Parts: sequence; C-alpha cells; structure tokens
Amino acid sequence: MDDTTARERLESMQAELDRSIRVLTGDPVAVRERSAADAGSDLTDADRVQAMLDVAVAQRRAVSAALKRIDDGSYGQCVDCGKPVPDGRLEARPEAARCVHCQAKQERRR
Ligand SMILES: [Zn+2]
Repeated sequence: MDDTTARERLESMQAELDRSIRVLTGDPVAVRERSAADAGSDLTDADRVQAMLDVAVAQRRAVSAALKRIDDGSYGQCVDCGKPVPDGRLEARPEAARCVHCQAKQERRR
C-alpha cells in the first residue's frame, strides 16, 4: 500500500473516530445526530459507553501515530524490529505499528 492511500485511509478513520469520540463524550449535536441515525441505541449504559470510548481513544492514538510515521517516512516498518509490515496486514489495519510477530509478543507482555 502506498503512503498516499494509507494517509487517505488513516485520515478518514481519524475523522470517523473523532466523530465517535464526540458522540461518546456527549457532544449534544453529535448525540442528536447519532440518535437520529440509530434510535434505540443504549447510550445510557455508562459502562458500555466508557468501554467504547476507551477503544476509540486508543485507536485514535494508533491512527495519529501511524500518520506521524507517514510524515517521518517510517510508515510500513515495524516499530519494534524495523522489518516491513506485510501489505495485507496494513490493508486490514492501516494503523498497525508492528508486524504480526512483534504484535503477538506485545500482547503477551500485557
Ligand atoms: Zn516486528
């Protein structure tokens, strides 16, 4: 995947995440848009909202880190071992910072 495509996809993910985060943190305009879009969604369940917010914020961070890597030319390289992250993985997760191997190690450490 070339940097231009990656940047476009990451920027649209970022916009989408920003919107979700605004909804989840209760921006009144965004909440209104959302309730119109999917009425009956369970926004009163505070725990669930918090969990979704945590995921969105973490992903937002990963996406903006990936955009920074495009800027400094290191996008597509594993941040741990420096080897290229396979294209298929970047297609599925453009924000991926690590190759599958290092990601698995990272997750085992947690
Ligand atoms: Zn790696």
